[in-house]
Amino acid sequence: MTLRLFNTMTKKKELFKPLKGKQVKMFVCGVTVYDYTHLGHARTYSFYDTLVRFLRYSGYKVTYLQNVTDVGHLTEDTGEDKVEKKAKTEKKHPLEIANFYLEKHLQATDRLNLLRPDIIARATDYIPEIIKQVQTIIKNEYAYVANGSVYFDVSKFKDYGKLSKKVPDELKAGARVEINLDKTDPSDFTLWINATRGHILGWSSPWSEWGYPGWHIEDTAIALKYFSSQYDIHGGAIELAFPHHEAEIAQAEATTKIKPYVKYWVHTGLLTINKQKMAKSLGNFIRVIDALDKHSPETLRLWIASSHYRKPLDYNEKDLEVARRKVEKIRTTLGRIRESHNKAGKKSSSSKIKRLRKDFLDAMSDDINTPFALTKYFELITLVNKQLDKNQFSKNDLKLAEETIAEFGDLFQIIPLTKKIELPKGALGLIKKREAARKIGDFARADEMRNELKEKYGVVIEDTKDGVKWKFAQ
Ligand SMILES: [Zn+2]
Repeated sequence: MTLRLFNTMTKKKELFKPLKGKQVKMFVCGVTVYDYTHLGHARTYSFYDTLVRFLRYSGYKVTYLQNVTDVGHLTEDTGEDKVEKKAKTEKKHPLEIANFYLEKHLQATDRLNLLRPDIIARATDYIPEIIKQVQTIIKNEYAYVANGSVYFDVSKFKDYGKLSKKVPDELKAGARVEINLDKTDPSDFTLWINATRGHILGWSSPWSEWGYPGWHIEDTAIALKYFSSQYDIHGGAIELAFPHHEAEIAQAEATTKIKPYVKYWVHTGLLTINKQKMAKSLGNFIRVIDALDKHSPETLRLWIASSHYRKPLDYNEKDLEVARRKVEKIRTTLGRIRESHNKAGKKSSSSKIKRLRKDFLDAMSDDINTPFALTKYFELITLVNKQLDKNQFSKNDLKLAEETIAEFGDLFQIIPLTKKIELPKGALGLIKKREAARKIGDFARADEMRNELKEKYGVVIEDTKDGVKWKFAQ
């Protein structure tokens, strides 16, 4: 099975061949932890989850690395640090904000049955690595210091624009409009920001007493630490291609002088809500936890996999209803297969099932064409139901069909009830202790433990006549 992947760098589907044997190093841009995880994130991370699962299914050994931006990501309009801005509004410390939203992000992605990345790296844990990289870039004469800040000199890096295919004038037009007298050129970007005039999170550096890193440098410092000078796949949403990923290439290649930094650039398409761009200002911003109140994780995952990852994906209730019915159909079919094992027929359909298996895998190998793979998946479901109606499925067919539905459904996490969302460690014990306290009438202690569950684990419990029910707090 040969996998082909679309590479944004060459704008072509390329044969996938890792740098080293069957080992795959994959970095995906993580979230900036200043707000709840939204549907755009769900789309992006669900795709990379399926990609990782499929690579592992195909025999690759994948190391999946994701960063977390808890400092240095500035707003488009005013150039304020997003986490710090939120902290000021809520009168909290920026790290309190970051911890809170990172926890919420992990809860939301766990509920979507996303595999946790092998390494989750928070920018603030890598300040020494970041400073060291900035020093190397200065030493290699690709950056300059001005008023305690450090800027990458885009004019020195001739390849700047090679990913987004922008020419110098477009690069300038795309740079954030700001009054910054320190920069030599508007397209130069910040590696280190002098913050002696005020920023709660800060570190001393060779350039100023108090400052913090720019957003782009965090990713490369983290990736260089874990993956060294080159790696296989860099992922993220398409809107990150410029300037974020363009800047990453410039920084990494200016540091190591080894090209290419990344072999395959893989980007996911936009998410729209009823064909409109999702934006807080438009009031159509949908958080994952709100979508999960209305739809099961399997329904959301099936809806996401129904579109090709590079195409725009639209959230609308009609498509979600279609996805819900399909999940229901998988569930019903699996139920029918399990009931039929004792009364299997004689006729064999195994060659048809095997062909559909092959078609499915061919579609996945063709740039992870999940909509086409799903078409084949549902052809199998239809075949199974037809043969079961006629009682023409042999025992072997039943086994092969059941295995195929489970095995492929697992790649998208669309099979209902395959994974239970688990309580955080320690929470179960606390719930049991609380039950014991209630039994002996110690309601004050029980209430204390209820609060502790919420504060420590983000778990809300409800006493019902069927026993204690729990869910994650929102
Ligand atoms: Zn990034």
